[in-house]
Order: sequence, then structure tokens, then C-alpha cells
Amino acid sequence: MAKWDEEIATEYVGQPLKVRDGGPAMVVEWPRALTHVHTYGLLTPFFEGLKEGKLLATRCVNPVCAETRRWLPPRADCPDCLGRMQWVEYGQPVIGTVYSFTMVDYAGLGVELKTPYWQIDVELPDTATIPKGYLLHGQAEIGMKVRAMFRTEAPTHTILDLYWLPAAKG
Ligand SMILES: [Zn+2]
Repeated sequence: MAKWDEEIATEYVGQPLKVRDGGPAMVVEWPRALTHVHTYGLLTPFFEGLKEGKLLATRCVNPVCAETRRWLPPRADCPDCLGRMQWVEYGQPVIGTVYSFTMVDYAGLGVELKTPYWQIDVELPDTATIPKGYLLHGQAEIGMKVRAMFRTEAPTHTILDLYWLPAAKG
């Protein structure tokens, strides 16, 4: 009997669970890891562009569509007429204007940035949207000019490969 118990004990290769609440109903913590498999689908060119230091948006080319400006983040299909959009590249350097900003002290899950950081909303010419981004250095101010930069070395393959720096004055 004693030998059988020892054999059972040696078969347990996991870690003992942490008991969060001992009772009357015992509650244990059971850590689990999850890999989320996600495709960028038709938006893949945007992320490929970031790795090459290019900022790509999409534009509706339907001649009867009311919205002819660029969309950033890109949409594969036009939100207005539902037609397939066309890829367009911003000219370099990409200069935008800070529309609004906030200091982020507690980043959401999946935002692997050291806090605190400046989250900025950037107005871009000929663009229907005001995309969010982050200012790597400097202090954010409404109306300041910022320049798009790209993490082409060791890219993360996420939107974090695009960041902004204060644009040189002059
Ligand atoms: Zn359209």
C-alpha cells in the first residue's frame, strides 16, 4: 500500500496550485498560457511597409464615393461604399500634427511599452482619420509637428513599429 502511494506521487509533474481561498469552497489559481493566432489578412501590406520604413494607407477609388481621402489605419474595404480600397504610400518624411494627447501610466494588455509614455493622435494631410500613436521622445503638445519613424531593426510586427518624434523645426 505504501509503495503504491509513492508511485502515484511520482507521476505528478505539475506545480502545486496556489490556494486563493481555503473554504468552505476551495478556490485555486490554475495558470494557463494562450497563443492567439491572428492574421492581418488584406492589411498585411501595411505591416510589411512598416518593416521597410514606409507608411501605407488605403484610399477609395470608386468615382462616386463621397470620401476620397486616405484612411489610416488602413481599411481593406471602404466604410462608405464598401468597395475595395487601393494602397497608397505617404511621401517621406511623413509629418503630422498632434491633435490631442494623453500620458499613459497604465498601458492596456498587449501594449508592451515602458510607461509612462505619450499617446498622441496625429492629424495627417489628405487623411480621413486621426490615427493614434506614441511619441518616443519629447513632450506632447497640441499642434506640435511630429515625424513618423519606423522600427525597421528588430520589428515587432505590430503597430508599435510606427512611432513619432518631434519634427525638426525650421
Ligand atoms: Zn468608397
